Amino acid sequence: MMLAAELALAGIDVAVIERRTGPELAGSRAGGLHSRTIEVLDQRGIADRFLSQGKAMQVAWFSGIPLDISDFPTRHNYGLALWQNRIEEIMAGWVQELPVRFYRGREVTGFAQHETGVEVAVSDGESLRAQYLVGCDGGRSLIRKAAGIDFPGWDASTSSLIAEVEVSEEPELGIRRDEKGIHALGRLEDGERVRVVIREEQVGRPGEPTLRDLSRALISVRGTDYGVHSPTWISRFTDTTRQAASYRKGRVLLAGDAAHVHYPVGGQGLNIGVQDAVNLGWKLAQVVKQSSPESLLDSYHAERHPVAARALQNTMAGTALARSDARIDALRETVSELLSMDEPRKRLAASLSGLDVHYHLGEGHPLLGRRMPDLDLVTADGPERVFTRLHSARGVLLNLGAPGGIDIAPWRDRVGLIEAKYDGAWELPVVGEVDAPTAVLIRPDGHVAWVGDDSRRAGLSDALRTWFGGPAGSTDGLRE
Ligand SMILES: Cc1cc2nc3c(=O)[nH]c(=O)nc-3n(C[C@H](O)[C@H](O)[C@H](O)COP(=O)(O)OP(=O)(O)OC[C@H]3O[C@@H](n4cnc5c(N)ncnc54)[C@H](O)[C@@H]3O)c2cc1C
Repeated sequence: MMLAAELALAGIDVAVIERRTGPELAGSRAGGLHSRTIEVLDQRGIADRFLSQGKAMQVAWFSGIPLDISDFPTRHNYGLALWQNRIEEIMAGWVQELPVRFYRGREVTGFAQHETGVEVAVSDGESLRAQYLVGCDGGRSLIRKAAGIDFPGWDASTSSLIAEVEVSEEPELGIRRDEKGIHALGRLEDGERVRVVIREEQVGRPGEPTLRDLSRALISVRGTDYGVHSPTWISRFTDTTRQAASYRKGRVLLAGDAAHVHYPVGGQGLNIGVQDAVNLGWKLAQVVKQSSPESLLDSYHAERHPVAARALQNTMAGTALARSDARIDALRETVSELLSMDEPRKRLAASLSGLDVHYHLGEGHPLLGRRMPDLDLVTADGPERVFTRLHSARGVLLNLGAPGGIDIAPWRDRVGLIEAKYDGAWELPVVGEVDAPTAVLIRPDGHVAWVGDDSRRAGLSDALRTWFGGPAGSTDGLRE
């Protein structure tokens, strides 16, 4: 949905084919949003829709060790506790306001890729023709498999059931650890049902989990099943850890769980998927419009693959630390001591919350490739936040030097210009305070593509060409 919205904002004709018949999600799944995802939603002017429905709190944890980000230099120095079924409903509400076509209750059954497009086969027998196809179809992605994209990684070492059920005996609520991992029971918001997360004895059981499986797992771990009955949701998750070898094969791309799966510790999966979409949307739009060459799409894999690779690494570490025996308890205690120090806490917290993402766009000012802070600017029309100018998902050149000193006329159809003043500090998560630039080129995803200072204007037109295509009237953006 995030990708569809990004494409629609860029004026691209986009359709979503979704197996489910409506936006309702069975079960609650992910527990919330990290800081950078809230920022990304803020960049599109929709953060308040989510913030008003959830609870702002510190959500970054590493294997039970809290990582407070309240001293981080961001407007959203917290995360948001909000279940995925609500997140998806709110997102669907926004997407419905945009020109996005939905084919609900239909499945992609295959596709054929040609030089000029992709023929997508749909379960109702229809076939849709598109210029590009993006598989956002989850960890078991048919599109990834049909494209022949490898999904290397590690098989599951542990399997858990997650369920929402009623109980006839009062259960022992709370989180417990044992030598195989964590299990937990908690009351749902309705005060009636209970959410259960419980380890299964056997890893790799085939088929959908049943109430009997849940009862058996509870008896095995807790000695009783508390009389579980009337499930509204039973699902299974494992620590299978895999990542697509390539996020693109010709006209087919992957985003979200289709590109990376891992254990849910740290609560990063949904967040990384939303941020994949925001990295890809504007690039794909420019390629479709032929203002940028197809090679721009290669930067999607180059930038996003390392981000998920790091999440795979920290979730594998987190899975190991989630077990409990004397040695692992000692290791967790050591890690906990390290994470009570400022520098290690900041580094890991910035990684889990997505605030440290740094795309390698070359040497230069520390802002280059990092997220643009949401500064409070002063403009001729009054105060304005940087993120407000990103609502339309277009690039922005922020000129903080002499007004009129920068001319980007040949790119004005793709890049907005703000003439403003800013007197405050420039502070980045983990990096700390950096020199104030006099101009910054910001991509639609909020990452900085070029930084100017008093002595340096060079490189701006190269950066504009790289990220937004050739100047208006030229043909250098056209696909070779
Ligand atoms: C127990 C649990 C807890 C989690 N907690 C967190 C958390 O706290 N924070 C976090 O960020 N993440 C968390 N996650 C991960 C998060 O749920 C996923 O990363 C996220 O749902 C991935 O989104 P997605 O859109 O990429 O894929 P999915 O949510 O899997 O969506 C894929 C969609 O594609 C549709 N589809 C699939 N195949 C086809 C087809 N052939 N044709 C048409 N439609 C198709 C499906 O119906 C589905 O709607 C958790 C996951 C689990 C299991």
